[in-house]
Amino acid sequence: MTVAIEKPALSSAAAKFLQKEHKLLIDGRWVAAKSGETFPVEDPATEETIAHVPGGDKADIDLAVAAARRAFETGPWSRISPGERSKIVWRLGDLLERYGDELAELEALDNGKPVTNARRGDVEGSIDMFHYMAGWATRLNGETIQVSSPGNWHAYTVREPVGVVGQIIPWNFPLMMAAWKLAPALAAGCTIVLKPAEQTPLTALRLGELVQEAGVPDGVVNIVTGFGETAGAALAEHPDVDKIAFTGSTEVGRLIVKASAGNLKRVSLELGGKSPAIVFPDADLDLAIVGTAAAIFYNQGQCCTAGSRLFAHKSVYDRIVSGVVEEAGKLKVGHGLDPTVNLGPLVSKEQHERVTGYIQAGHGEGAEVVVGGKTGNGHGYFVEPTVLAKTNRDMRVVREEIFGPVVCVQSFDDEDLDSVAKFANDTEYGLQASVWTRNLKVAHMMARKIKAGTICINTHNYGDPAWPFGGYKQSGWGREMGKEVMEHYTETKSVAARL
Ligand code: ADP
Repeated sequence: MTVAIEKPALSSAAAKFLQKEHKLLIDGRWVAAKSGETFPVEDPATEETIAHVPGGDKADIDLAVAAARRAFETGPWSRISPGERSKIVWRLGDLLERYGDELAELEALDNGKPVTNARRGDVEGSIDMFHYMAGWATRLNGETIQVSSPGNWHAYTVREPVGVVGQIIPWNFPLMMAAWKLAPALAAGCTIVLKPAEQTPLTALRLGELVQEAGVPDGVVNIVTGFGETAGAALAEHPDVDKIAFTGSTEVGRLIVKASAGNLKRVSLELGGKSPAIVFPDADLDLAIVGTAAAIFYNQGQCCTAGSRLFAHKSVYDRIVSGVVEEAGKLKVGHGLDPTVNLGPLVSKEQHERVTGYIQAGHGEGAEVVVGGKTGNGHGYFVEPTVLAKTNRDMRVVREEIFGPVVCVQSFDDEDLDSVAKFANDTEYGLQASVWTRNLKVAHMMARKIKAGTICINTHNYGDPAWPFGGYKQSGWGREMGKEVMEHYTETKSVAARL
């Protein structure tokens, strides 16, 4: 595979941030980890160390939670009006807009993703999230309730912020995951301890600066960089955290649930997926080819919604496979900072080993590697966009989440929609599915039959701040975005008055 290895220079703003001595944000101050530990941050395209960040652990989490508790119980955040809160959350969106190019560069460098996608996808998506969620701050109304008890009653509900929230996020969309978590929690009036992924802490730290610039009071947002087993675990089990919001692997999701049992904190989970993309014979095939290829290759396949199981009706199977192969061939692989690159490296060595291991396993189990399968021949965690054909339900590559640019294609010849849905539902996950057809009845009947939290018709990897997002089955608990996410960050209090 040819990899465009040239690494363009950073803008002076991004370079300046990178050179800083990075600290934790606790109670409005930038501080070193109590232990004094730091760990290196790597550019996955070159394997060079680009920064060091504090290795926060339980001691730092304790301080951050205490600061968040103080800010929640006695700080200005609990007294500020919803309108003021809304303005601050909106301002954060504006600041992301102002520093969007710098944030996109930092994201491309830290995660490996193409800078063009980081700017158009991650940064824009984060701006939209803050702006959308700003509106919820002034709309968290209760209801008056008609009760049937004898006598005269005035019964009503109020929505109150859930309290101190721990947020643990992954490395695939570092800034956007921080925005998805912070924006609704801030709008609801919660205070927060955010732990970014150890692989990609940089944009969260830059966001911490913007949180301060936006005028968020001290202690309301605390950011602790560190490892999952130390900082993450300490946050998940902390007795003074009221709620944990987690995005990551299903395996760690289970650990979060266990850790939360001590004080029965509220938990929301956005976990793995093995999403089907189903192409019916009447689909607009040009659209389906481009769409299903993007469904798996976007972000190097490191999307929890990635369309990793591609089902094509047998009458269009050959056309779809050759079309997706052709799309794979068009992708320019290289350093994410190069604006002409479409596919960067995977995020880490561990991820590279995992994905290449799956490709080998698939080959060993009889899948045909139609295109791809190779890795870079120099530095960097590059993997070619890969199409595995002749796959079947018993293969590990079809059952398990690969989290890389690897699609498993299968054909079907059933006309009966229940049978087609059975293939789609033959997974322990249920995050997203896409249906490619021109037939409205087929599209919406399939939407009903598929057990997944999000269904896309003639698109994939769709998202919008107003569109609830989350999974059925082992893809998670609860929904992010839309009005549904506000349920996670508020408690309902019922009040009954005998008149
Ligand atoms: P991946 O396997 O794709 O790296 P993870 O689910 O391990 O994804 O990571 C997602 C987030 O969960 C990261 O911020 C990571 O540090 C954190 N994490 C990992 N292990 C734990 C744990 N035992 N407790 C709490 N958080 C964890």
